[in-house]
Amino acid sequence: MTQMNEQKNEMEISFDAVSQNESFARVAVAAFVTHLNPTMEEIDDVRTAVSEAVTNAIIHGYEKRDCGKVYLHCRLKGDVLQIEVMDKGKGIENIERAMEPLFTTRPDLDRSGMGFAFMEAFMDDLEVESEVGKGTTIRMTKKLGSSAWVDSED
Ligand code: ATP
Ligand code: MG
Repeated sequence: MTQMNEQKNEMEISFDAVSQNESFARVAVAAFVTHLNPTMEEIDDVRTAVSEAVTNAIIHGYEKRDCGKVYLHCRLKGDVLQIEVMDKGKGIENIERAMEPLFTTRPDLDRSGMGFAFMEAFMDDLEVESEVGKGTTIRMTKKLGSSAWVDSED
């Protein structure tokens, strides 16, 4: 039966753009998907991707000025997790260039420019929407817990 794959669940939280909340966001998303019985590897992938996106919102979007909120929105459709991380910070001028591995605008902060590359590697899909002066939305999806939900007919 694939009935359970139709199940939907959704959660939305917002929090201050301070570095203490990077771990909060990671844990919140991990807890949200626990019932799908994901593998350790899947959970680690999701945690890393959330961490990279939230860190970017805090240090690049709001430039560490402790002056804004990060919005985290998760949707589950069956075993597919969609995560949106949104900030109302400064936005990205050139998204294509920003997504290139090793590109960073903040070498002074010891950033290595690998955040987007990690998000892309650890999730199945990554979309970036951004407008200078308005903010940035990262949308990522990943299929989870395949052992728990998918019939073993293949
Ligand atoms: P690392 O993630 O390895 O510490 P990084 O954050 O610079 O370094 P990426 O996460 O790949 O690398 O991001 C690349 C660049 O995209 C950043 O240097 C920054 O200029 C821009 N960027 C990413 N996220 C945002 C955001 N939310 N708001 C504004 N600019 C962003
Ligand atoms: Mg980064």
